[in-house]
Amino acid sequence: MKDLFDRDIEYMRISITDRCNLRCRYCMPAEGIEKVSMSRILTYEEILRICRQAVVLGITRFKVTGGEPLVRRGCPDLIRAMKEVPGVEQVTLTTNGQLLEPYLDELRAAGVDGINVSLDSLREERYAEITRGGKLQPVLSAIAKAKASGIPVKVNCLLQKDLNEDEYLAFAKMAFDQGILVRFIEIMPVGFGDAEEGMSNEEVLLLLREKWPELEPDERVHGNGPAVYMRIPGKEGAVGFISAMHEKFCDRCNRLRLTSHGRVQPCLCYEDAVDLRPALESRSEEKLRQALASAVMAKPAGHCFEDREGPEGKSMVEIGG
Ligand code: SAM
Ligand code: SF4
Repeated sequence: MKDLFDRDIEYMRISITDRCNLRCRYCMPAEGIEKVSMSRILTYEEILRICRQAVVLGITRFKVTGGEPLVRRGCPDLIRAMKEVPGVEQVTLTTNGQLLEPYLDELRAAGVDGINVSLDSLREERYAEITRGGKLQPVLSAIAKAKASGIPVKVNCLLQKDLNEDEYLAFAKMAFDQGILVRFIEIMPVGFGDAEEGMSNEEVLLLLREKWPELEPDERVHGNGPAVYMRIPGKEGAVGFISAMHEKFCDRCNRLRLTSHGRVQPCLCYEDAVDLRPALESRSEEKLRQALASAVMAKPAGHCFEDREGPEGKSMVEIGG
């Protein structure tokens, strides 16, 4: 479905929980966030109802996210059921990878189309520091196994000044050596990201070019989003750049975000959201579809991170990244 700015909105990120087993510094406070009772969280059946109506509007690709989606029981079953909804073209997952390895077989059997793993350091101690207690090895092992089992894997890495900025080369090497996609994501002033200083992707690319002058744009299509990819001729992997701050790509925005509480957020930068609860409770699928359509129509022309801070009190753990 087209929005008011003639953008085709065909992708939805669905947060299935705001709970998480990590406490990444830019995303969650050390003490966690106030736990919302499970009765306020969308049930899987409600999520499926939303997907069915989204498909009618032309939204056919979905990302399951969180919080950490794998801490919610039955996540692979949801993915399987979403894949069975007529018209759904793609269902992918974003995870911190802590619990991924034991779920890989189930996820593959469920038909997951790809897995994004968030990983900000390849050094054990630093990884634990950034995530406040995460273990690196299970993540690396899950990435290798997912790749070996044929599931497309992308690694998402946020580089921060004076923290992990020196790891850009290690991550690029990981992409080219392991034949996977590693994307550098600029930190946005949302939630606790506001207090952190990110590295600009322009700078990362300049530094990578010093090491690999042969880097060239990679025209192969890799996903649903605004990432721009570079590759080394002859190598399978690639590095991607998602530069929300330094290369505003709002004119190509194609997405809605559904929070685990049932609110659809048209843009990451604004608090405004459409609450799907009344439509869900009315049991009218038409009302549900209308509510989704109104969220598409409420999409602003672009974010305003450069002018002001992100939505107050909202953290990525609630919105799903
Ligand atoms: N727990 C899962 C994970 O970490 O992949 C899924 C949810 S997490 C909120 C989704 C993505 O949002 C992660 O890749 C994380 O790095 C990113 N993220 C969180 N806060 C951010 C911020 N302020 N700016 C940019 N990306 C952010
Ligand atoms: Fe949890 Fe993901 Fe947020 Fe880290 S980025 S605290 S893993 S939700």
